[in-house]
Amino acid sequence: MKKHHAEKLALSLVFIFKCLMPLLPVVIALLFWKKEYLFNYKNTLAKMKIHVSAISRGPVQHYFENILRFNKDVSEPIQGYCSQCGNCCLNRQCVFLEQPGADKYLCGIYSSPLRKFSNCSSFPINGNDIERYQCPTFQVITPYPVLLLKQA
Ligand code: SF4
Repeated sequence: MKKHHAEKLALSLVFIFKCLMPLLPVVIALLFWKKEYLFNYKNTLAKMKIHVSAISRGPVQHYFENILRFNKDVSEPIQGYCSQCGNCCLNRQCVFLEQPGADKYLCGIYSSPLRKFSNCSSFPINGNDIERYQCPTFQVITPYPVLLLKQA
């Protein structure tokens, strides 16, 4: 999708989310069948405001521009694994993020089939993704071996 279309769509979607904000904890409780989002309504709403603000600063546009119809032009070969640092979860601002232990983060909707309609299931698609969230354990595969030179 072209950049300016993606930008307009992203602005519209974020506007809709902001208008529907008080309903969003109910919506996610139903969509992901997790009653705690509703039972902890005030907490979920506070986290949802942070989440929507975070996705409005690039991730929604990135979704429409590169992920929805996977943009092969911007993808790069990637290697690595996830060490569950939570950086790519909107820098730990995702409403669905759970913290089972110190420095370990889990996606609370990881097993939902709906998750594949998000940026999360495709992260990282390229070096920009990795850099944006300072992912410590994925790298772009370079076509040439990297030689580390010792300083004299
Ligand atoms: S930034 Fe990388 S290591 Fe951290 S949670 Fe995301 S994929 Fe995993």
